[in-house]
Amino acid sequence: SEEPGLVVLSNRLPVSRVGNKWQTSAGGLVTALLPLVSTRPTSWVGWDGGSHKLPEKLPGTDAGLVGVGLSRADVKAYYDGFSNATLWPLFHDLVGTPEFQRSWWEAYQRVNRSFAEAALKTGEELSSPTYWVQDYQLMLVPQLLRAGTDAPVRYFLHIPFPAPELFARLPWRDQLLRGLLGADTVSFHTEHYRRNFVRACALLLTDVTVRGRDIVLEDGRVVHTQANPISIDTTDFAEDARSEEVTGRLQRLRRQFAGRRVLLGVDRLDYTKGIPERLLAFERLLEDREDLHGRVCLVQIAVPSRGDVEEYQRLRDLVDQLVGRINGRFTRPGEDVPVHYFHRGVAREDLLAYYLLADLMLVTPLKDGMNLVAKEFVTVQHAALSARSATEGAGALVLSEFTGAADEMPQAYLCNPFDLDGVSAVMATALSAAPEERRRRLDLLARRVRRHDIHAWAERELDQ
Ligand code: UDP
Repeated sequence: SEEPGLVVLSNRLPVSRVGNKWQTSAGGLVTALLPLVSTRPTSWVGWDGGSHKLPEKLPGTDAGLVGVGLSRADVKAYYDGFSNATLWPLFHDLVGTPEFQRSWWEAYQRVNRSFAEAALKTGEELSSPTYWVQDYQLMLVPQLLRAGTDAPVRYFLHIPFPAPELFARLPWRDQLLRGLLGADTVSFHTEHYRRNFVRACALLLTDVTVRGRDIVLEDGRVVHTQANPISIDTTDFAEDARSEEVTGRLQRLRRQFAGRRVLLGVDRLDYTKGIPERLLAFERLLEDREDLHGRVCLVQIAVPSRGDVEEYQRLRDLVDQLVGRINGRFTRPGEDVPVHYFHRGVAREDLLAYYLLADLMLVTPLKDGMNLVAKEFVTVQHAALSARSATEGAGALVLSEFTGAADEMPQAYLCNPFDLDGVSAVMATALSAAPEERRRRLDLLARRVRRHDIHAWAERELDQ
């Protein structure tokens, strides 16, 4: 084919085995790519996740799949180790403690090399390919690709880029920056993260010059940087929000939670999400406001994540303990508990029904690159607005200042998640806000998200 090709690289291939069949996993990146795949021959390079023989194409699409095999030791050192126990906490402002281990770094280099090799090989079969590298597991790949091709290389970081003073702790900091500088464009969620990266380059590398948004290398090559917040498929969420299935589940939830206003949390069980702090703020609200007892409850959905890592096991224990304490303190005889805690994922239809049920959506991470739950909530709530009477109001979003989403969502009830009194006060304010005020805010939030949806994001990443 003469159409320009596309090689996508991500840690995981977006497929999973369900029974004896392969399925395409739902996710932002897949959704963003589907409309592109029909016009551009596409190849997706990623970890095959283990033992099964992969299908040749991403199910339901024309995109080719290229599996990168990882040994058990690679997964432990490159993925659990360097990616999730070194880079993840370091890039999330040390809300977890990063470990620096040379053997993990060596594995990270080795695995990044195999990704780059696999990508170059598949790229040779496409005419004028663009390489599109995703996220913190593959930070060395742009440089490795640059050494093997003159083709365009784009990189997107899905997590925050920390302040240079924090980044500077990494023993292999220069190598990581040089890895990224192999790309033509290095892209971040926010202007803040972008600036942190450029400042880190200026501070730590002596042979680069910053010129506006560009970084000029010694050999004259120019690396462009940009901010481009990732988003969701708003059309898809809005349609599903109005579906019969979701409406039915919402009606059932309304009966189950009758008489109480619902505060909702939806997160992976990760220490960056501020779940214990959120529980403490809710406990404070109940301490201060006896009039709310029996009238409000908190539904917390915590999707299990990285359960093999010790820091995550400790978090799970802490959340169990706090939920038990709060329910022990505030449950009244014969009545329902104040905290409904689910340590499991829920079906998409149930998730949307919970978004619709909630009076307050609590998105209070200590640090989060973007946070899509915030965008999903306002989109789904907004889709249901027309079906509600004006006196019913709308759900309100309580949002941490330390999320990428906060940049685009100034009409949310913003809070500092470390300030328990502050969060508790914001919850009270949002709960008592007038219906028109909640609607006004929701309308502005949802419009902004719709204007820059996942397709706008992908277009910006690939067309320049
Ligand atoms: N989500 C899910 N299963 C659930 C609850 C939520 O798959 O039971 C989804 C949710 O719809 C959202 C994603 O998980 O798209 C979480 O993305 P976010 O950016 O908020 O946080 P991340 O997990 O990427 O750190």
